[in-house]
Amino acid sequence: YLPTIYGITPTYPRLAQKADLTRLSQTLMLVKNFHWVVIEDSDEKTKLVANLLKDSNLKYTHLHIKTHKSKHSTMIVDHSRPKKFYFVPRASGVEQRNKALDWLRQHLKTAEDKTGVVYFMDDDNTYSLKVFDEMRKIKKVGVWPVGIVGGMRVEMPVVTNGKVSDFNAFWKPFRPFPIDMAGFAINATMFLDRPDAKFSRKVQSGFQESEILKYFTTKDELEPLAENCTKVYVWHTRTQKPALLNPKKLKLKHPPIPD
Ligand code: UDP
Ligand code: MN
Repeated sequence: YLPTIYGITPTYPRLAQKADLTRLSQTLMLVKNFHWVVIEDSDEKTKLVANLLKDSNLKYTHLHIKTHKSKHSTMIVDHSRPKKFYFVPRASGVEQRNKALDWLRQHLKTAEDKTGVVYFMDDDNTYSLKVFDEMRKIKKVGVWPVGIVGGMRVEMPVVTNGKVSDFNAFWKPFRPFPIDMAGFAINATMFLDRPDAKFSRKVQSGFQESEILKYFTTKDELEPLAENCTKVYVWHTRTQKPALLNPKKLKLKHPPIPD
């Protein structure tokens, strides 16, 4: 029996979008029982993403919601911390992932099979097929290392006697769960028992993972996967912004990439 994996991917228009989504979708074509929830950060669904999904033969749900623009970064006062306040820049992916979670709850309510696994997937990361095999073993929340992230070769949970005892992370190690979005997945059924579980625009950068995980687990309960967190099956790769020649200076045709 293979539990369904719900991969939740926010995406936004940019020059490399189609390249990134092509690479990701063609990885996902090799994953069994996979349902891709793609949420565009846009006022409406684009042809580019619609075409890509249609041509992929993947099982998918196509949603959209534009990130609410705050002109200035918001100041949040936090009385529990010594510095007491911090600024929140434009949070990316928050509204999109929350919209996907709304969809998921509706979907599971009426679904015959309410089991599954939820995985939050950036559109520009690199995923080994092995990471999907690992997450199907999850009872509640599973964790594993993530390569090339937070200034490290690999960020990983430290496992002692089969349990997560610590995290080997350099960037903001004071986070409740110093772990990247790509480094965990959650039992989908648990979202039905926790209708409030969602991401928040009001947390400082790097705290989204902790924000969602706090509804589901504690450090002691995390299930270490990928051979006790000794293997790397996902990388937080980032696509470089392409440098384009100025079309005004170009005397050649400078056509857009077709949808
Ligand atoms: N994203 C988005 N809107 C934005 C910026 C990013 O929907 O304005 C998506 C992006 O496509 C990706 C995820 O949110 O799937 C995380 O963004 P990004 O990969 O840029 O973050 P980073 O890897 O740099 O932390
Ligand atoms: Mn990314």
